[in-house]
Amino acid sequence: MSDTFRAIQLSKTDDGQTSAIVDLTENDLMEGDVTVEVSHSTINYKDGLAMTGAAPVVRTWPLVPGIDFVGTVTKSEHANWKAGDQVVLNGWGVGESHFGGYAQRARVKGDWLVALPDGISPARAMAIGTAGYTAMLCVLGLERQGVKPSDGDIIVTGAAGGVGSVSIALLAKLGYKVIASTGRASEADYLKSLGASEIIDRNELSSPGRPMGKERWAGAVDAVGSHTLANVIAQTKYGGAVTACGLAQGMDLPASVAPFILRGIQLIGIDSVNAPLELRQQAWSRLASDLDMDKLDAMTQSVGLGDVADFAPKILAGQVRGRIVVDVNA
Ligand code: NDP
Repeated sequence: MSDTFRAIQLSKTDDGQTSAIVDLTENDLMEGDVTVEVSHSTINYKDGLAMTGAAPVVRTWPLVPGIDFVGTVTKSEHANWKAGDQVVLNGWGVGESHFGGYAQRARVKGDWLVALPDGISPARAMAIGTAGYTAMLCVLGLERQGVKPSDGDIIVTGAAGGVGSVSIALLAKLGYKVIASTGRASEADYLKSLGASEIIDRNELSSPGRPMGKERWAGAVDAVGSHTLANVIAQTKYGGAVTACGLAQGMDLPASVAPFILRGIQLIGIDSVNAPLELRQQAWSRLASDLDMDKLDAMTQSVGLGDVADFAPKILAGQVRGRIVVDVNA
């Protein structure tokens, strides 16, 4: 193994932030008790924010971004891990305040790692990535709340994005009827191929709406926030549940308490970054059993480290379909 490895490095200058591909050594890495030879990372919405500086997610400079990675342990002082183990990392501030996955090597805390599940290849683990793992957290949230396929439809907002695409594939496989809300009518066939039964235009949900509307769905996976989330809540059936994981439209929630106090609906917050280990393990194990890998492959494209800077503004603009894997050796 060479002493140096390639990484994307973000730096802050008087003129703003810059991104470059640099050669680093392990001496440059931050503290941690496990060193990993990274094979793949991915581009999530938050990576788009970090790479472009569109929101202040980067907490330390210079930084190797990339909020998730998969790879093989090369050195470990942590009781759970030994050289040769294949591991996945999502969140924990990696790619924000700790050097992340856009590098051929990473050093992190062993407590942050999850074993790569049997049956998921390293490339597919990052096709899933934090977006797909978050989709599974949403599905688990709906299940915990007791939402069953027989209760009614599930709406997925931001449907053609990463969280949305994986959510549709998971929910369809589990027997739910899925309504996909998208701003891209041209992606209707793609969304149907993932398992959506009905497509609606996201404009139906994105403007200020009434406190309560017709009861249309039993549950929701919302990656969009703002008026969209408020309208999703307002049209959820009695006793239904809405998982809120994203803010592609906005961070605000201009909603009424009416659906909560008159229809008893539940709003479930989803956080992937600091989720406890047991929940992460459950999510990854369920992804191995409940995600159709052919559908995952169909929603995924692969790029190299040198392409990440070009794709970062595109994901923020909602122009990326499905998921992007970053092969750090390409
Ligand atoms: P993507 O960019 O892949 O997907 C977001 C989708 O939202 C877009 O594809 C688009 O779908 C839709 N969208 C974009 N802009 C708007 C807008 N202005 N109004 C309405 N809809 C819009 O991102 P990800 O799937 O990776 O992430 C989705 C969200 O989830 C992000 O906000 C991200 O920060 C959040 N997230 C949160 C996590 C957590 O731990 N809570 C973890 C992972 C992600 P379409 O074209 O179909 O309309």
